[in-house]
Amino acid sequence: MLIFAILYHCFNKIQYKTKIFADKYYSDTQFSKVNDITVESKILYGDYSVIAAHYPKFHIDSIDIIIKGLISGYIINFETHFKDIVLLDNNYKTELNIDYELSIGIKNIAYIKFTILENTSYYPQPHITIEELAFDLNTNKQLDINSDIFNTFTLETYSPLEIIESEYMPEPPLEEIEEIVTSRIIDPTKPMVALTFDDGPYTRTTMPILDTLKKHNSVATFFVLGNRVQNNKDLLRRMIEEGSEIGNHSYNHKQLTTLSPKELKFQIDKTQKSILDIVGSEPAMLRPTYGSYDNKLKETINMPLILWSIDPMDWKYRDANKIRDHVLSRVRDGDIILMHDIFTTTADAVEEIVPELINRGFQLVTVSELYEINGRSLQVGNIYRDLKQR
Ligand code: ZN
Repeated sequence: MLIFAILYHCFNKIQYKTKIFADKYYSDTQFSKVNDITVESKILYGDYSVIAAHYPKFHIDSIDIIIKGLISGYIINFETHFKDIVLLDNNYKTELNIDYELSIGIKNIAYIKFTILENTSYYPQPHITIEELAFDLNTNKQLDINSDIFNTFTLETYSPLEIIESEYMPEPPLEEIEEIVTSRIIDPTKPMVALTFDDGPYTRTTMPILDTLKKHNSVATFFVLGNRVQNNKDLLRRMIEEGSEIGNHSYNHKQLTTLSPKELKFQIDKTQKSILDIVGSEPAMLRPTYGSYDNKLKETINMPLILWSIDPMDWKYRDANKIRDHVLSRVRDGDIILMHDIFTTTADAVEEIVPELINRGFQLVTVSELYEINGRSLQVGNIYRDLKQR
């Protein structure tokens, strides 16, 4: 039976080469052997257009330059032709979304399949393009996806033993996250606000934000992207260990209101599962991408939808002082503040915002705490902008 399985497997591989290569040779254990690969995400907001591009960074110049070139090409093309074209249907914006699947083969061959989605007035339906790249990680050279190397993935090049070993590597046991007894005491009679951060986690920027929160014995809510969590497990664990909350912000930042029920389910469920696998619990709330929602989304989503009451537009200004001043000049009891933990200017602003809020008597709480402590429960399918519903 086992031999049959191996043979079957190899036949399939010969027939479908790249597809099978992608499907069969990906596993987290293998992936983690290539330690330095990180996920880069570019999320660019325009008034009428949105871009979310995700790609792997190998930290190997000869490879990264090719990947970046491909991504930049799509972004430049989109910005040149479609950016800020107002669509007739105001419900959604012109959109470019790039995501990828990465597989590392046994021979240290990296295969990347990019899926590029363009939602523009040029196309009646979202337009999908597939781009494939392959690199030999022994030489750091690009491989021609259409020839030589992919045709040599046959019985001779992989011994069945290798295949079995690599495919059936047991998952490491889920590390127990110690329950931290929080030393925070929240006084329900005193004012409180919830800082929220979208689009991460990102080491360079999420880490200093967590440092600032920890320093001031405070917490926040992080609405993370599902496709960023696998590479940032430690950040996710740290969020939970230090009392912060994790929310769902979709898998790869597509506009949720434009998706079919099946795609929507994928965006939500895959993110829930990815987070569950790392921290042992699922998010209890969703922040819809671009803040856009409709009745269909509200009815389908099995979670409360969290928006915000203060938006310093950190993505637009990238100016720590401006972000700080915007928040501090408006903040009131019960506010939910929107920021993005992908900008260093935001991390810098947070360093000043947190102590000043505390100085003014605000308690920094998670979104769940904000409602629970005030005796309110978050209902599935409802929209929440701030505690006082001003
Ligand atoms: Zn976002």
